[in-house]
Amino acid sequence: MVNKKYVGAHVSAAGGVENTPQNAATIGARAFAFFTKNQRQWSAKAITQKQTEEFLKELEEHGFTPESVLPHDSYLINLGHPDQEKREKSLDAFVDELQRCEQLGLTYLNFHPGSHLREISEQESLKLVADSINRALDVTSFTKAVIENTAGQGSNLGYKFEHLAEIIRHVEDQERVGVCLDTCHTFTAGYDLRDQESYNRTMKQFEQIVGFKYLMGMHLNDSKPELGSRKDRHESIGEGKIGLECFRLIMNDPRMDNIPMVLETPDSSRWPLEIELLYSLIE
Ligand SMILES: [Zn+2]
Ligand SMILES: [Zn+2]
Repeated sequence: MVNKKYVGAHVSAAGGVENTPQNAATIGARAFAFFTKNQRQWSAKAITQKQTEEFLKELEEHGFTPESVLPHDSYLINLGHPDQEKREKSLDAFVDELQRCEQLGLTYLNFHPGSHLREISEQESLKLVADSINRALDVTSFTKAVIENTAGQGSNLGYKFEHLAEIIRHVEDQERVGVCLDTCHTFTAGYDLRDQESYNRTMKQFEQIVGFKYLMGMHLNDSKPELGSRKDRHESIGEGKIGLECFRLIMNDPRMDNIPMVLETPDSSRWPLEIELLYSLIE
């Protein structure tokens, strides 16, 4: 049997994006994520032509395809911001992130949908997110916008599958939009995944509300908080409230074939072991 599971971790881009393929290869990853720029700053230096060439060379040398990389955008970006000026600033930064991905020849950009900040309704904010995505896709050419589901902490959107579906519904270019399911966020948002039965029920809901054709990536994290706690705190695989069974089910689910699945677990020294553990679950 050919192994179609692409598991890795969110690796450091310290010293430049061109270092990420090596960082991923070192931990035994077949997929990886990274920040295309400092995730807590608005502006960043452009990626040079030399860096791009080096990145592409490293990517190929370590056997990664562009589809096995799931870059993550800055935490500052809020495409659903109620304030127009701040939303525009976010949109500019989001376009810049998409352009960086395109410069590196990458297929996906993973991002959190946004927050309504209790100033407007969820519905209004979701519509603003979709409008922002439309404008960003209009001025870029091929990188796909991959919306991550969230734990629903504070006023964050994206904790219900319906939120993801609502954004997608308003996106004009359906070929360039997808979703990333984070197991910790899914669980703390209230969707159980702990055994075969609850996993099947949650995935059936996902299929009915969003659809697996939109699933373009996963974040594999166990959870410190309880089911439905709406808190976002990751735990090492098998050590949290979700438990190992969920990850066994994912590793044997063909609906997760050929998409990047990325660890964002807190102890990076365990990533090589966690990746090995996940692969050992394949039956
Ligand atoms: Zn995540
Ligand atoms: Zn998280």
